[in-house]
Amino acid sequence: MPQNRRAFLTDALASGTALLATARSGLSGAWAQGAQPPPDTPAVIWKTAGDVAAKARAFNKRTAKTAQYRAICQTEAGVAEALEWARANAQSFSILSGGHCFEGFSQSETAVIDMSAMNSLALTPDRELVAGPGATLGEMNTATDPISYALPAGYCPTVGLGGHIGGGGIGLWSRAYGLACDHLLSARVLIANGQIVTASATENADLFWALRGGGSGSFGIITSFAFRLRPIPRATLIEMHWDLPPAEAGKFLTAWQRSSYGADRRVTSFLYAEPGAPGLLRLRLRFLSIADRATSFAAAMEIYQIARPVTEPYISEGTFLQVSDRLWPRGYMPEGYFKFASNFMARTSNAATWESTMKLLEASRGAGQALVLETLGGAIDDLPKEATAYAHRGAAKFLFQFETVSRNRSGLDKGIPIMRALQQSLSADTTGGAYVNYPDLDLPNWQNAYWGDNYERLTRIKAKYDPGNLFRHAQSVPPAKG
Ligand SMILES: Cc1cc2nc3c(=O)[nH]c(=O)nc-3n(C[C@H](O)[C@H](O)[C@H](O)COP(=O)(O)OP(=O)(O)OC[C@H]3O[C@@H](n4cnc5c(N)ncnc54)[C@H](O)[C@@H]3O)c2cc1C
Repeated sequence: MPQNRRAFLTDALASGTALLATARSGLSGAWAQGAQPPPDTPAVIWKTAGDVAAKARAFNKRTAKTAQYRAICQTEAGVAEALEWARANAQSFSILSGGHCFEGFSQSETAVIDMSAMNSLALTPDRELVAGPGATLGEMNTATDPISYALPAGYCPTVGLGGHIGGGGIGLWSRAYGLACDHLLSARVLIANGQIVTASATENADLFWALRGGGSGSFGIITSFAFRLRPIPRATLIEMHWDLPPAEAGKFLTAWQRSSYGADRRVTSFLYAEPGAPGLLRLRLRFLSIADRATSFAAAMEIYQIARPVTEPYISEGTFLQVSDRLWPRGYMPEGYFKFASNFMARTSNAATWESTMKLLEASRGAGQALVLETLGGAIDDLPKEATAYAHRGAAKFLFQFETVSRNRSGLDKGIPIMRALQQSLSADTTGGAYVNYPDLDLPNWQNAYWGDNYERLTRIKAKYDPGNLFRHAQSVPPAKG
């Protein structure tokens, strides 16, 4: 570790660690008498179900819960206090940072250890980023944009780092630079025995491996991250859309998959498909590039020539923050009832497969269906498959996200079977894998789908750091037996 980063990290973390030492002495005795929250301290603010502010942030209204106790942690010491209180009072708890979990694993009716206020962001002199888990991707981009460096991470500006990194973190610049978790230098983690440890290539390297793709909420509570950043001086965004009947859409999608996977790795594109006017599919393309203009425009032209878009391409050029802002408005937090599913795809689907999928999608008008198609490859596959717990390198060429949205819970009943039919229609081309950052409670054999061959190793790491399964949710990694 370079000396200036070490010094910075030491300074940044020293106050929290000192507070931890004070807070941990003798607190469980006082709290063990009942499940009343302790008084607020500078380290943690408590809310109970009666407070309006008891509601934790929840992207998906389907999963939102009001907790009896919400510990809004202000410092690393506060996280330790909150965990100690939950343990002493035998309260089950969830861990929440940005509140974007598709299946609500960060929600609880009992207690929430809420990290959203721990959202500090600091740049080191050698352009590394020290971030609290409550920092959102949008806040992070805003903090790093002035030096024209970025963490290659996901699209949505209100996603929290606390939950994002554990799944891998796929997004705008992944083909160029790799996953967000590939840029993790170290993390501070509160583990089940109450200690706060550093996980890095040289300390607790097994835990460090698990934190990079092994899913969030299984191994401990992350209290801070340190990341390496990548230079992104300029970015180009080209937007186009098409209104096509299913047969034409099918041909287009096959050609788009070939072109986008084969493109220069500094170029990426993702497609959003939904029912359009009767008989038509609306396909919206977002094409992003950090390559020079000639390379960018040549790659975009290849897609333009597959089929003429409805309007001429809309081109924006600027800093990566300007481009990200155009993709998703900074405070993006739609209200809705959602169900999602995902599949990693092993190959390009042929036009006939796409045509039948597009027929289903076209016929689903009014049922809240959409498909989000992302291209992988490039730098994601530079690392060997076993380098981190993210298990899909090399095998997965695309990530498909299936989305059902409704204004109310009952509206999902109609949409979910259609979503499953869309998934089934493309099933011959999947790797069999699914993305743990897009969890799906109805996924059979989710352990294998999320982690494949890495699963057994994850259960052994879990057994080492959390043998009693203190940190758990419906799809967390269980400890290996024996
Ligand atoms: C609109 C939208 C767009 C998205 N876009 C992308 C994308 O482009 N790329 C991508 O990879 N993903 C994307 N995601 C998925 C997102 O990365 C995951 O949902 C992620 O887990 C959210 O993190 P969070 O902190 O906001 O969520 P939370 O709901 O707070 O937490 C999610 C999980 O992480 C655990 N957790 C939270 N904080 C901590 C912590 N400090 N320590 C340990 N465990 C913790 C929680 O217990 C829970 O299991 C998107 C999600 C949404 C809703």
